[in-house]
This record gives sequence, C-alpha cells and structure tokens, in this order.
Amino acid sequence: MCTLKGRCRRWLGEMPIRFSLRSVALLLLFAILSRSRGITYVVLWFDTEDYIDPIADDAALRIANDLTSVGVHGTFKIVGEKARVLEQRGRADVIQALGRHCIGYHSDWHSVQPVPALVLQHLGLLEGADEFERRQKGGFEDVARIFGVTPACYGQPGVSWAPQSNLALRRMGVHVYLDEGTQVGYGDQPIWFGGLLYVFNLGPYQIRADLDGHEPESEAFRRFDAAVQHLADNGGGLISTVYHPTEMVHTEFWDAVNFAHGDVRSREQWVLPHRRTKDDAERCFRILNAYVEHAKAIPGVEFVTASDLPRIYANPIPPAVSRTELARHFQRGINFLSTRAGDLSAADILLQLLQLPAEYVDGPTQRGTTNYAGPTIPDYLFDATVKDVCSFIQTNRRLPSEVFVGSKTLSLEDFAATLAEHVASPGPIRVKRGKVEFEKYFATDARRAFNWPIHPEGFAPEELLALARLQGWTLKPARLR
Ligand SMILES: [Zn+2]
Repeated sequence: MCTLKGRCRRWLGEMPIRFSLRSVALLLLFAILSRSRGITYVVLWFDTEDYIDPIADDAALRIANDLTSVGVHGTFKIVGEKARVLEQRGRADVIQALGRHCIGYHSDWHSVQPVPALVLQHLGLLEGADEFERRQKGGFEDVARIFGVTPACYGQPGVSWAPQSNLALRRMGVHVYLDEGTQVGYGDQPIWFGGLLYVFNLGPYQIRADLDGHEPESEAFRRFDAAVQHLADNGGGLISTVYHPTEMVHTEFWDAVNFAHGDVRSREQWVLPHRRTKDDAERCFRILNAYVEHAKAIPGVEFVTASDLPRIYANPIPPAVSRTELARHFQRGINFLSTRAGDLSAADILLQLLQLPAEYVDGPTQRGTTNYAGPTIPDYLFDATVKDVCSFIQTNRRLPSEVFVGSKTLSLEDFAATLAEHVASPGPIRVKRGKVEFEKYFATDARRAFNWPIHPEGFAPEELLALARLQGWTLKPARLR
C-alpha cells in the first residue's frame, strides 16, 4: 500500500492540480473496477409437482409467502395435474400466492407413465415434437388458465429430457428451458440450444443449501460466496437454485413411493410419502429462508425469474462476421464461434456462408452420408447444390441431413466444410471432410444421463442423445447483455 501510494504521489505530486487529478484517477479506477465486476444473477426455482399429498399445497403457499415477504421473486414450475388439484381442492389462496411469482410448466403428469423420454425415445425430431405437443399441451393450457399467465419456461420431470421438446415448446410459446440435467451443456452457464435459452447443466453454479444435514449450511454459503466471487471476476453469470415444496414436508419423494422403475398403479392405490414432523419441516423452511437471506445480502447479487432471463441475456440473432473469417473457422472444425460482437452457432455460420438472412433454424433430423467420390465438384453442379440447400433451409426452417450433388450426396458437415473451403480459397471446388466439434458438449452415456428412479430399470435412450448431437448445430453460449 505504502509503495503504491508513494509512487502515485511521486508522479501525481508534480502536477499543479494534484488533488483533483488524484480524485479523478481514483474515480476512474473505481469505475473500471466496478465495470469489470459483473452481476451474479440467481434464478430460484421450485418444481411444484406433488399432487398426491395436500400438505405439499401448504408448503408451496408457505414458500411463496415467505419469498414475497422478503421481496424475492421465485419461479414455480407447475405440473398440470398439480394445477388441477389446487383448483379442485379450492386452494385459491395457493394459486394467488404462487401467482405473485413467475409461473413455469413442469409437464402434465410428471411421473405417471409413459414419461417424456420414454415416449420420445424412438421418434424423430418432427414426429417427436408433434407427440410431445399432443401429450403436453393440455396440461400447459390448464396451468395457463388456472394461473392466468402463459408459463414462462419448461423443465422436464426428473431427467426425462428429450431434444424434440424444444421444437414443440417454441410452438407452444415457451422460450426458456429451466432445469438441471447432463445431456447437454457448455461452460457451466446458460446456452442457446434448439432455439431456446437453456439454463441447464450449470455444474458448480447449481447450488442449494442441503435440507438433510449432509452438509452444514455454512458450507453451502461458502460455496455460494465462492461462486459469486468467481462469476463477478469473470463479467457476471448465473447461479441456479432448485427446491421442491414437497421436500420441505416429506422425507421421501411422492413419486418414488408410487411410480418407481416404470411402475403403474390406479389413483386409488396411490400412497402418501412419509411426512416430516412439524419441527423438522420448520427446520427445512428455515434453511431455505436463511439461504435466500444470505444470497440477498451479498452486493452484486440479483434474484431473477424465468421471465427475466430473456431480458438479461443478449438477443441470439448473430452478428454479421466476414465470410472469410467464418470459412476459416469451419476449416479448423465445425463448432460455434464467439466473437467480440456476439456468438454464432454452427447453423448461424452456415447460413452466413450461404448468404442467407440470419434466423434460427433447427439442426438436421438424421445423420447424413457422403457417397460423392470425386475430389472436386464442377462449378455448375455445386451452384445447383447451394441453391437447393438454401431453398430447403428457407422452406423447412431446418438444416438438411445431407445434400445432393447430382445423384450423389454429401453429408451436412462435408457440405459445410466444402463450402467453407470454397469461400476461403475460391477456385476449383475441392471436396472436404467436415470435422464436427460441437458433439463434445453432449453426454455419451445414456444410462447415466437418464438415470432417474421413475424410468424403467436400465433405461438408456441412446437415440435421444444421437438426435441431440445433431441439434448441436444450434448450440452456442448465451451472453449476458
Ligand atoms: Zn420434478
């Protein structure tokens, strides 16, 4: 401190107006420091799903009121059947209290079979999206009607995730995916994927204070503080915190005791999960409230809801980047690109290489193949291919799985690499093999990624991960405004 002060005094001290200059310098320093320390946003969400035990309704009411009393907004992701039973049980008080917060959607029946990943396992992108919409739209509309708002986000029951849901959700008017899972993720922060803003797979930034004493609260607070420090030092970021109203009042999950491992039973056979004692439930509410108070007290921490997220993240429309730069990027590997001005998914880059207007398009439905054997493609033939690809994309709002070169084909990645080569070095059109890089951001072990006690034993839907990897063309980091 002394050394620095001495040095400053030495060069500032010779100035005739040294005090005002010193003040200006200090102000500038503070301005730079505060600008470089980003805001840490906390999205606090509650999967509100237990429609079996009415005591869970009171738990949701208590949480909503506690948060309201300290001026914090949470996001309550509601199951369709939960909304319906609240209405049937005459719980206008609960509906009203939750309605002061952000409302999301958490599937129609949650754990009643067949659950989403089971239904979508063998379906392609388009028929899967139709089927997801057919099964989920009714519950979505019930939540919207009962709470009087369009749900701001969706998140799958358990880890019953599927890539086809993205297309269906966009059609239903949902633009935020809020949950936790390991099927896809990048950088432990939100991403754009499948045309949605994904809060998913946040690793060390998925934080909560444990309810059952495996870790003292102080340890959760320490992890929270360290995460805030790290995010603030890196321009800001998001912490995701999830609780379930039901876990405040039960020692076991309502669905695990009724629907484990693909079990089915009639409504009359449903059993109640084991309840906590009143004192124990109070202890759980106190831990949640202490966590919220702790987070709220830290400078630079702001609570946000699912409906705030699209406002705090930059618009996903990609910046225009020189085609040569994009072509060189694809020559190194097919992946998203982060530039000073913004981020481009591999699909965004391909559209710019094709000189198409920027818009969101889905990834291909299948893995295409290359059977074009020659080392080069005649200009007239490649021109026709490019024209056809542009027409396909603009008609279907989707990338083709493979493209025709006369009667032969190039896989999408080989076409992209060949096009990039041609843009970077005009001349004879040389066929190149595309090196897809974005697939590394997807899980490879389906059994582990879909491990949930409600899925049938050994459930491992490799097809869903394969389809997800194809949608990796749409993946890119989400950037705070
Ligand atoms: Zn759930």
